Amino acid sequence: MKLSTGAAASLAAALSVATLSVATPSASAAAHPPHPPLARQTLPAGDGWASAGTGTTGGSAAPASNVHTVSTRAQLVAAFAAPGPRIIQVRGTIDGNTDAAGAKLECADYAANGYTLAAYLAAYDPAVWGRDTEPSGPLEDARAASAARQTAQIKLKVPGGTTIVGIGRNAVLKGLNLHVDKVDNVIIRNIRFEDSADCFPQWDPTDGDEGNWNSLYDNVSVTGSTHVWADHNTFTDGDNPDSAQPVHFGRPYQVHDGQLDITSGSDLVTASWNRFTGHDKTMLIGSTNNPATDTGKLNVTVHHNHFENALQRLPRVRFGKVHVYNNYYEVPDAASFVYALGVGVGSQIFSESNFYRLSRAVDPAKLLYDWGGTAITTRNDVLRVGGTVKPIDLVAVYNAAEDPDLSPDAGWTPALHTGIDPAASVRLSVSQHAGVGEVR
Ligand code: CA
Ligand code: CA
Repeated sequence: MKLSTGAAASLAAALSVATLSVATPSASAAAHPPHPPLARQTLPAGDGWASAGTGTTGGSAAPASNVHTVSTRAQLVAAFAAPGPRIIQVRGTIDGNTDAAGAKLECADYAANGYTLAAYLAAYDPAVWGRDTEPSGPLEDARAASAARQTAQIKLKVPGGTTIVGIGRNAVLKGLNLHVDKVDNVIIRNIRFEDSADCFPQWDPTDGDEGNWNSLYDNVSVTGSTHVWADHNTFTDGDNPDSAQPVHFGRPYQVHDGQLDITSGSDLVTASWNRFTGHDKTMLIGSTNNPATDTGKLNVTVHHNHFENALQRLPRVRFGKVHVYNNYYEVPDAASFVYALGVGVGSQIFSESNFYRLSRAVDPAKLLYDWGGTAITTRNDVLRVGGTVKPIDLVAVYNAAEDPDLSPDAGWTPALHTGIDPAASVRLSVSQHAGVGEVR
């Protein structure tokens, strides 16, 4: 039961009258039990898909002996190796590209077997190599060997039964890829994830019409895992944004992959109150059209996130029943923006009460993109262009501009949420309270 503020106040008043003679606990303490510290908090009941079944408690029940405060990569690795349940508190900045002594590792330190970007560019220039087959041979082998060395350094597995939280406003995991792989029950909160750059992007001339540079590292990768709650994190490329990368072979030299990717049979994930900023491929839910792994899974709730100058995959969905509500989309640049919601194969997105703030040059029909899906429910969204806020029917706008049309009925109605705010209120609440430093 959810009480209005007035009803709760009346109840509290009634309780306080009834318990006047009781010294402790006070009536107000009974109505509002003490707030556990951040590291001991669990996902509230009903808060999205991650609350289904056994819910998401992370490492909240860890004994005091298994609470780790870490400020170096080596300490973080040791904390992940400790028995569960475990609480990991990040203090300050941890840079994944540092050796055991804490010295900075540069890309050249990972390079193996003679790999240099200059040599790679010379060998696989389409004018030399053509566009029909993927690179192979000694330099591609050297690139892969170099990448394997970086992967061993910066991609860290997160065990089940883990809570990892930042202390205060300044906890940063930089140049790291957290990998939540084939486990259950993980909480990730109040961390600034920054620039998981790949030193060794791979050229694929067969990817798309013009080829693409692809990179390996998400900030957070969730694969084959359940009950994951990512909350109040900030995802950014810091001083190394996608928009500042060079162009090679006529294509952007992409050194990043996703910010929060949820794939490979993962299920029951809630992503709430995060800030995703200045990035291209932001949130991928499902990485393959092959139904074997993902059918009936990839159920994710995405709420109260701030997508700030994020270019695509906000999120892009395959197969899952994905509830996207009360998010704030800020799209300042028509030239770089690709789309917001990607309607992929088998996807059932239910999107409601989001706030879309677009610059005048952005076509609202581009908020949806059809990646082979057939239907999406959208309702109660608002669009702000200039100073004007008005309702927008995303599917109707999309269908008026594009063919084939998308059905406006994704075929389900979300039940797991803790209340939907009016879309008009979302710009203020999310811009003020999403991201790091807003929970304690
Ligand atoms: Ca990825
Ligand atoms: Ca149409």
